[in-house]
Amino acid sequence: MIYFRSSRITIVLLVTLLGLFSCVNRRSSKTMNDAEILSFHQSLLTLDTHVDTPLRLKHSDIDLGQRHDPREIRSKLDFPRMDAGGLDAAFFAVWTAQGSRTEAGHAAVKQQAMEIIDQIEVSLAAYPQWSGLALRSGDASDFDQQGKHAIFLGMENGYPIGTDLTNIDLFYKRGIRYMTLCHTANNEICDSYTDTSEYDGLSPFGFQVVERMNQLGMIIDISHLSDAAVADVLAICKTPVIASHSCAKALCDHPRNISDTLLTKIAAQGGVVQMCLYGEYVKTPEPNLPRDSARAALEEKWGDPYKLSADKYLDYRIEEKAVNQLFPELLPTVADAVDHIDHMVKIMGIDHVGIGTDFDGGAALADCFDVSELPNITRELIHRGYSRTDIAKIWSGNLLRVFQKVEQFAHR
Ligand SMILES: [Zn+2]
Repeated sequence: MIYFRSSRITIVLLVTLLGLFSCVNRRSSKTMNDAEILSFHQSLLTLDTHVDTPLRLKHSDIDLGQRHDPREIRSKLDFPRMDAGGLDAAFFAVWTAQGSRTEAGHAAVKQQAMEIIDQIEVSLAAYPQWSGLALRSGDASDFDQQGKHAIFLGMENGYPIGTDLTNIDLFYKRGIRYMTLCHTANNEICDSYTDTSEYDGLSPFGFQVVERMNQLGMIIDISHLSDAAVADVLAICKTPVIASHSCAKALCDHPRNISDTLLTKIAAQGGVVQMCLYGEYVKTPEPNLPRDSARAALEEKWGDPYKLSADKYLDYRIEEKAVNQLFPELLPTVADAVDHIDHMVKIMGIDHVGIGTDFDGGAALADCFDVSELPNITRELIHRGYSRTDIAKIWSGNLLRVFQKVEQFAHR
């Protein structure tokens, strides 16, 4: 310990030290050049909590080991582009559309979800040098140290649980580590944001589902839930929750986005909201009538392109490309998306915000069109003065803290 004879010397020294410290801090963020930013981004442990890549795996033209052009085919993630974009880990969404809530409907969707997981396992097994199925929070860094991408599973929509709690155990055993309780319509568990209120929140079964997820160590995802359902979850959940892909309603008034009141409550319980890159959640789209009518005509002519034969699909793609060239999509930018991070950090604090892109589920920004362009987010955060520590929290630290808390509760 050094003592100073006069308080004046102490003050002068303190001021000098503070000056030096802030200089180092500025040097560490705002003044970094592009090469330094990219190398900093590559050094981070990065985790995306929501990609719909399993939807693409069904199609034979997608191979996770090959680099695809996202403007040629609609794929936003493969291992070469994860490497290029410095994305270390991701939650693959096992998504199912809400269908009939009958015994037959529940049996069929359970089978469908199992088949999606089978398909993911096959796709990952083809590239053991590149990835593996991750099950524990610690796998994100463990896999990274082995030079592999940790692929976690999240289930988007609790529809495959049907009315049977033991299905949660079954899917946990298959690797599911978070479950978004519903999608765009109500199910047996809770009300969705886009459906009419059926339970005014969680159903009685939904309360049991939350309890079982807590016991098992499965993270509860509140993206897509009605505000009343989120409030119910927060009232009974024994662990922090996540919103795996949502933005702030104060900046973009979309029902999928989260109000400041709920953001505050989620943070108060230690949870995180993972900012999403889905255009309509980032910024209310400007009317683009020529494009909308050209796209509608295309849809009317071809129907669902994925149901077309290989030859017809190619013809469709030529026409679609022409429409996109004639009437380009007006996409929001990384700056628009980082505005949501700024806002959520202001409301929730730096420990409660992360990133869940929704790539392959419709997400795209003009300057972050696929995972290979993710360093642009880090660049924007640096230019806005976020410290290295803050950026590391946003890219995985906060989410992994929640994941660990959920695991610890189950194993207490
Ligand atoms: Zn979604």
